[in-house]
Amino acid sequence: MILFKTAESLGQYLAKNIAETRKTGFVPTMGALHNGHLELIRASKQRGAFTVCSIFVNPTQFNDPKDFEKYPVTIDHDLLLLANSGCDLVFLPSVAEIYPAGTVLTRAFDLGYLETILEGRYRPGHFQGVCQVVHRLLEIVRPQILFIGQKDYQQCMVISKLVALSGWNIEIEIVPTLREPSGLALSSRNLRLTPENKTAATAIYHSLQYLKQSLQPGPLEGYIEQARTMLVQAGFEKIDYVAIADAGTLMETTNWNGNTRLVGLVAAFIGGIRLIDNMPLTGAGEDHRKL
Ligand code: AMP
Repeated sequence: MILFKTAESLGQYLAKNIAETRKTGFVPTMGALHNGHLELIRASKQRGAFTVCSIFVNPTQFNDPKDFEKYPVTIDHDLLLLANSGCDLVFLPSVAEIYPAGTVLTRAFDLGYLETILEGRYRPGHFQGVCQVVHRLLEIVRPQILFIGQKDYQQCMVISKLVALSGWNIEIEIVPTLREPSGLALSSRNLRLTPENKTAATAIYHSLQYLKQSLQPGPLEGYIEQARTMLVQAGFEKIDYVAIADAGTLMETTNWNGNTRLVGLVAAFIGGIRLIDNMPLTGAGEDHRKL
């Protein structure tokens, strides 16, 4: 595995060493890597792609500066995991490398309503920051395939929109969420949970499972109320949202016609840590591509 810290050295290496016929697969991350991230690496390896992973804790996507300061950094462990998973190249840029003109947003990405609902509503500016960094990283790495996790469902839609807006010919592969045996979705933020809160946090998974198993056509309000109650009873101190939405558009659905594909989405705080998760509610399994 090779490591680069500058865009220039990375670009030169790729231009010289990767045959034009070989695809580059790209996995952008913020580090504090876990097996969920490695699923994306494995997906890229499975496609036979030269696999590039970036680790960059992007300051512009944190609407809460304290959240940014406390974001876990485990770089030595990350590099070990990546090397063992067969990652070919790691890009570890500095803030100045990614934002040579400073971190003030100088352009706006037209994300439409996606920016004002769910995560966009509770984390103003978050998706502009995500687009800013992903756009810059794609410009540097120039991959043919981009691997992103279904765990961040709305982010998958935002990044798809970004790629469409940019006109780049990049295939996006969305990788299903990897969970602990308890059902808790793997997340870098789990590192900050106490063991008790980690156990209690499985209520997110159970509330989504409850939605999936009980949903009937008609008004959905009662199901949402019950899912919220499950979270409160487990010890979640604040719920940003429990929502049921059209899986294709993410528009909230309050009355189900029995046909529209649905996804359930949750964002809630336990022990001061904000966790998000989602689950396709229609069709078998959790992989949204198989609905
Ligand atoms: P992050 O480091 O949190 O920015 O995540 C980097 C990438 O890993 C994103 O595309 C995430 O959606 C993906 N990811 C995070 N957690 C999981 C998980 N449990 N399973 C699959 N992919 C994940």
